[in-house]
Amino acid sequence: MQEKEFIPLAQPTIDEDDINSVLDVLNSKRLAMGPKTKEFEEKIASLSERKYAVATSSGTAALHLGVISCGIKTGDIVITTPFSFVASANVILYQRAIPVFVDIDESTFMPSADSVISVIEDIKKGGYKIGDGRIQLIPNRLKAVLMVDIFGFPFEWDRITNYALENNLKVIEDSCEALGSEYKGLPCGKFGDVSAFAFYPNKQITTGEGGVLLTDDENIYKMAKSLCNQGRGEDNKWLLHVRLGYNYRIDEMSAALGVSQLGKLDLFVLKRQEIANYYTLLIEEANIQGFLPPIAPLWCSKISWFVYVVLLPEYVDRDKIMLELGEMGIETRPYFTPIHLQPFYRDIFGYKEGCYPVTEAISSRCLALPFFVGITPIQQERVVETLVKLINKHKK
Ligand SMILES: *Cc1c(COP(=O)(O)O)cnc(C)c1O
Repeated sequence: MQEKEFIPLAQPTIDEDDINSVLDVLNSKRLAMGPKTKEFEEKIASLSERKYAVATSSGTAALHLGVISCGIKTGDIVITTPFSFVASANVILYQRAIPVFVDIDESTFMPSADSVISVIEDIKKGGYKIGDGRIQLIPNRLKAVLMVDIFGFPFEWDRITNYALENNLKVIEDSCEALGSEYKGLPCGKFGDVSAFAFYPNKQITTGEGGVLLTDDENIYKMAKSLCNQGRGEDNKWLLHVRLGYNYRIDEMSAALGVSQLGKLDLFVLKRQEIANYYTLLIEEANIQGFLPPIAPLWCSKISWFVYVVLLPEYVDRDKIMLELGEMGIETRPYFTPIHLQPFYRDIFGYKEGCYPVTEAISSRCLALPFFVGITPIQQERVVETLVKLINKHKK
């Protein structure tokens, strides 16, 4: 058999301009806390219609700063989703706060605003249990909602932000997968008291490692900026630390790469849309019961695809198919594994299978296909053809 070329799951698009922008920084010898960081922050803030931005060393760092800056402390309750990258719940645990999961809606891969509100109302009544009930939830410690724009699809923001305002809750938008997407005509990253983007190499644009926190609240901004920079005060005296801070700063090479990449975001978004459309066409043409393309929710007025996640029919073994695809040089990944079933979440909370059934059902059927700006239509055809063959082979 002919040796087949490897198709990776993801791959950044880096051109001459990107490389030169990083080289310029190296040549300038200003490698940290310089003009590129400031420029990157200003550009991202303006794009997301936010007043303030703090660039960070990762998306996780940005989210963590967001959680602290919202005043989340030990024993506080934060409502979130179990169907996400683990970092979106970990940042709550970093503060010794309690993430309370709300099961997702199978059509959007996110909890509906209705189910979020209904869980909040139940917690307020007292006696609400999570896991095996070993962790006590104190109703008046309910502090925030942290929702995720999953796969580039916006969450149903307006109902939750309105509800939060009336109920004195903070809102955190994990928009790490949704740079360039829009919710009812407004950019993702604009919602909540704070939001965060991430720039790992598989995201829409990359800085290598990197992220950014966004807010319109001056106090949150000042707090996040200080925490990001070792707890230094506003006067920025180098050896005066007014609070326990972190080094979550981005460096100048990464920021320069970010500025350069940002200039191509519109192009990337268009190209990714084309690629997603072609996958969807191929899958519809294959016409296999239960083999489904992802569909953006109705309120998504513009989609910036992060990953392309399909659902496989229930009668096939997803993990087996993934393995066989890998043997044929096609890299895929099961985005996502439920957060509540990660070993240490089981240990801390006593979670087990059955706690969030929709999340678990979707997680057992989902598969992220190779998806990046440089993928060719021929490669996409090979991915879907191979997948279809394997589905038919494993059909019982
Ligand atoms: C990528 C991502 C993050 C942050 O990732 P980092 O690797 O820390 O930059 C956070 N939440 C979600 C949902 C993500 O996809």
